[in-house]
Amino acid sequence: MQVLKFGGTSVGSPQRMREVAALIDNGEQKVVVLSAVSGTTNKLVALAGCLLRGDREEAQERLDALQSEYISFIEELLEDADSRKQGLTVLNGVLATLRDLFTQEFTPREEKVVLAQGELLSTQLFHLYLRSQDISSELLPALDFMRIDQYNEPELELIQSLLHETLERTAPADYFITQGYICLNADSEIDNLQRGGSDYTATLLGAAIQAEEVQIWTDIDGIHNNDPRVVDNTFPLRNASYREAAELAYFGAKILHPTCVIPAEQSGVPIRLKNTMAPDAPGTLISQQSSRRAIAAIAAKDNIAAIKIRSGRMFNAYGFLRRVFEVFEQFRTPIDMITTSEVAVSLTIDNLTYLEAIIGALEPFGEVEYQLDQTIVCIVGDRLHEQTGYTKKIFAAVEDVPLRMVSYGGSNNNISLLVHRSDKERVLQQLQAHLFSAVPANTI
Ligand code: ADP
Ligand code: ASP
Ligand code: MG
Repeated sequence: MQVLKFGGTSVGSPQRMREVAALIDNGEQKVVVLSAVSGTTNKLVALAGCLLRGDREEAQERLDALQSEYISFIEELLEDADSRKQGLTVLNGVLATLRDLFTQEFTPREEKVVLAQGELLSTQLFHLYLRSQDISSELLPALDFMRIDQYNEPELELIQSLLHETLERTAPADYFITQGYICLNADSEIDNLQRGGSDYTATLLGAAIQAEEVQIWTDIDGIHNNDPRVVDNTFPLRNASYREAAELAYFGAKILHPTCVIPAEQSGVPIRLKNTMAPDAPGTLISQQSSRRAIAAIAAKDNIAAIKIRSGRMFNAYGFLRRVFEVFEQFRTPIDMITTSEVAVSLTIDNLTYLEAIIGALEPFGEVEYQLDQTIVCIVGDRLHEQTGYTKKIFAAVEDVPLRMVSYGGSNNNISLLVHRSDKERVLQQLQAHLFSAVPANTI
């Protein structure tokens, strides 16, 4: 069985939903994971923001806007009176859930309930549409099987057994429709897999059912060699290895959720990225086979803090780095980049929740300073450490840019540069010009 995931733009209008229905309907049984209609999760974030700060008036206006948007959506999507009525019942249920939250204490827990409504809406409406077209479909409620533990990590074994139980009690169908992004946490509360998390749902389900392939359908024809929002003349990669794709996703390529490649890699399930707007384009296949390019692609990750610890005690000593790392472990904050000299160590983090506490805990080790608004630019390729000549090109491309840190040799796939956020755009553009002089013929 395959798992197909359609992102927000792919289900962003009634017309697009119809196109998705046509795309999946080939008689082969599959699991279909949907995101919320594009823009909805952002609107729910804003609505929850109002309630968190106690602004019920603005929250009500936002709820009314959502209501009229979805009434038009339903009227356009569902043509027969009976399906429309059912669509409006679904919408009213969601609106009632949201309205109930207006009158209670509103904490980040309630916020998660708000954020879950987008996927609950899109999947139910899509299912009603399929039914209205006599296409055999059943809903699989993601909250019945998607689970994360107390550290917000997915519990793959539990997901696997709960999913099988859910499938056993569900009527047979050609297409099983489920919500991306949402899950229950260790306290059995509604939670999510972080923004962009529907990709992660798809690869976790792919791993859970040992799917032959996970397809991620989006609004672009695969992983491009640079960020198409910033750089012109980017081109899609036909192939990327799990490692290459994982590094690109982790270091900011928005097309993939940062950790969604991991379950697919661990279970050996290939991921195919496809464009809903151009279904015939080959897209990108993520599997064991690499890009076979010394330099495959470039990505950038913003909102990084760089921390430097300078200490005479580091000189010729052992155990120092362990004590530094223990601080990050204590605050469950992953380190992305690290560079050391004899007297100082610099490292970066992207989760700033405990930044102040981390700085405080590091102070006994020496002089500590940090800078915010940094960006990691990550250059990914295949067996980079065995190639020659390209470091010169990279440094030539950024010769006029201050480099706060450089990390090389940590993996075979990646060289990372830390620059100020304000230099990001030109760094990506200049690297594109120096590293990719022409669009390779085999990608077109
Ligand atoms: P979806 O809603 O389908 O999950 P996303 O917006 O999350 O789609 O991801 C697709 C977008 O990712 C593209 O429209 C593109 O602008 C952006 N993007 C950023 N970096 C890359 C890249 N290297 N390759 C392809 N797309 C990228
Ligand atoms: N709807 C969620 C978001 O916008 C999850 C996703 O689209 O993958 O982040
Ligand atoms: Mg996405």
